[in-house]
Amino acid sequence: MKGFSTRAIHAGQDPDPSTGAVILPIHTSSTFAQDGVGGLRAGYEYSRSANPTRTALQECLAALEGGSHGFAFGSGMGASDVLLRVLVRPGDHVVIPHDAYGGTFRLIDKVLTQWGVTYSAVDLGDVEALRAVLRPETKVVWCETPTNPLLGIADISAVAEVTRAAGARLVVDNTFASPYLQQPLALGADVVLHSTTKYVGGHSDVVGGALILSDDELAEQIKFTQNSVGSVPGPFDAWLTLRGVKTLAVRMERHSDNAERVAEALAAHPAVGKVLYPGLPEHPGHAIAARQMRRFGGMVSFLVAGGREAALKVCAGTELFTLAESLGGVESLIEHPHEMTHASVAGSALEVPDSLVRLSVGIEDVGDLVEDLTHALDAVR
Ligand SMILES: *Cc1c(COP(=O)(O)O)cnc(C)c1O
Repeated sequence: MKGFSTRAIHAGQDPDPSTGAVILPIHTSSTFAQDGVGGLRAGYEYSRSANPTRTALQECLAALEGGSHGFAFGSGMGASDVLLRVLVRPGDHVVIPHDAYGGTFRLIDKVLTQWGVTYSAVDLGDVEALRAVLRPETKVVWCETPTNPLLGIADISAVAEVTRAAGARLVVDNTFASPYLQQPLALGADVVLHSTTKYVGGHSDVVGGALILSDDELAEQIKFTQNSVGSVPGPFDAWLTLRGVKTLAVRMERHSDNAERVAEALAAHPAVGKVLYPGLPEHPGHAIAARQMRRFGGMVSFLVAGGREAALKVCAGTELFTLAESLGGVESLIEHPHEMTHASVAGSALEVPDSLVRLSVGIEDVGDLVEDLTHALDAVR
């Protein structure tokens, strides 16, 4: 198999045979000419079912995750919805992380439960805790690692083993790591999910999602369901995502370099109570992360010693770190999960501390980033 960046730049992206264009065209056509009824020229008939620009993105993502099938969606949540429609039925049970992405929690807690599905939220960093909530009707274990926003680490191989023994499927939301840092299919996951809005796209200019898997039968069901419900990305979105993914490896290296430096600087600052970053040797998941990830990524969270008010002040006090939701772009972002990305879990068992601040460390010059954070933290010490 070719190296990661070679696949990112070339998989699914041969020069256009009709013109020689090196860069894949944005195929805006909604429909495709047929040579006689049913005589498709290249397998395409209507762009909800399949579109050549989308196909290229799907082939590239499958190659990056080491899967046989890739599916691109209009958003990460669109991908999650289609996958859950395929995997669960009324009466089934789903296991989710106790600090699941807020939107995933909302989809399961508010939408899926209307259809008679139950769920348990557990710390998947604790395999015994997982074992304790599994039931005969458990069909899915939904894993995130690192988790959002607490940066917890689950041992994918161990979770896969327990999940398989229970007759359930393991879904890994690989959004935080990206396929460059972690490849869950090789560790035993059945399906990998991405919000390509984040690191895969990488430039905060397009919303999208993806599923990657190797099971042919499951892939047929996903294809059928996606076409039935219509949650597809437009060709321009697919193209932008593909443009972003070409530089994924170099971006992730730089995100990791910068986040390591930022985590160290935060740990040394008196206004910071605790730094949550799997790259720090004192992080409880450090050894597992070092085993299953190439590096530790660009997400860093920390608790502000002064509590909620101080945390809000830090979020409002940076200049380079823009106060905004989302993550994974080249620019640095800061946010207060309790009142922003994770407001939907407030009051539930998944509630996050109100002194928590989450950073998406971008690829700017790291000295400038550290200076910006230090300045904002000095104001609350
Ligand atoms: C953003 C995100 C999602 C949802 O993706 P959208 O593209 O916003 O629909 C799912 N999981 C994680 C970990 C995310 O960060």
